[in-house]
Amino acid sequence: MAGKGLLERLAEGPVICAEGYLFELERRGYVQAGPYVPEVVLDDPEAVRQLHREFVRAGSDVVEAFTYYGHREKLKIIDKEDILEPLNRQALQIAKEVAEESGALLAGDISNTNAYDPTDAQSVRFVRQAFEEQVGWAVDADVDLIIGETISWLGEAELALEIIRASGKPAVLTLAMHKEGLAREGMPIEDACKRLADLGADVVGLNCSRGPATMLPTIERIRGAVSCHVAALPVPYRTTEDRPTFQSFEDAACHCLPEGRPFPVALDPFTCNRFEMAEFAKAAYAMDVRYLGICCGAGPHHIRAMAEALGRRPPASRYSPDMTRHSYFGTDAKITAGNREYASRL
Ligand SMILES: [Zn+2]
Repeated sequence: MAGKGLLERLAEGPVICAEGYLFELERRGYVQAGPYVPEVVLDDPEAVRQLHREFVRAGSDVVEAFTYYGHREKLKIIDKEDILEPLNRQALQIAKEVAEESGALLAGDISNTNAYDPTDAQSVRFVRQAFEEQVGWAVDADVDLIIGETISWLGEAELALEIIRASGKPAVLTLAMHKEGLAREGMPIEDACKRLADLGADVVGLNCSRGPATMLPTIERIRGAVSCHVAALPVPYRTTEDRPTFQSFEDAACHCLPEGRPFPVALDPFTCNRFEMAEFAKAAYAMDVRYLGICCGAGPHHIRAMAEALGRRPPASRYSPDMTRHSYFGTDAKITAGNREYASRL
């Protein structure tokens, strides 16, 4: 696969893109929940490099530079606009090193700015500038593709697409679909994806917010609406018809949630296991959805299961489960009969 670009790889089969750096590095103690700014890129680059490596080792074909929320609006909130450019350049550099050593694709990343307001020309200018500067740094790093992700406004996604396309890099646009299943302007999300496809996006689809169960039906509609490649990167949480997004969960079994809701740092009881993520990958790929991954909450074990479900055997498969040799539940001849019998009492 090394040397092949995104579109060549998609023409041949699935492309896996691990996302979710913000959540995983928050759990590991390198990102602060709330502000959610990837300062770790400058403060502890080794932590970011290691997670890139773990995701690639687990089967990710894309190393996504950790510039999510590394934009002007976020840095303004924490009064650190002065680190905007060094943060972006460093994130790209770290990702580039891992992409080069592994043969994975290097992706630049822009995202929801939380500053876009279609009725306010000044906000639109601000967002344009934020996207232009980030895309410019990604181009300087010679990325293989640029991702515009987790965007709710079609207008903001169109702006992201316009600026990515002007760079000449392949453009992946993934929208975040909230409870109602609409882009923030109010149109069905599949219509928004169709619009992005018509405007020349190479890949369109959804990421974040929804888990496998409540994302897949819409992905099927998007697949039917567009002729370009489709992306599906759910969060690994058990969302339901009543609670279709991970922001909307309630946890009646827990009485010690300081904010009253599990989102974003107490989602553990809702986490999908690796087998559920593997099933999602198979179901989506069966619809010819080829750009697959996982967003907030993803761990390398989820990515490996997804890769294996798609017929891959990434380096981390060296340690995929083999329960035949488990001391109590195993079936291997070397497991003692006594332990096997005792297993029912564990
Ligand atoms: Zn996410």
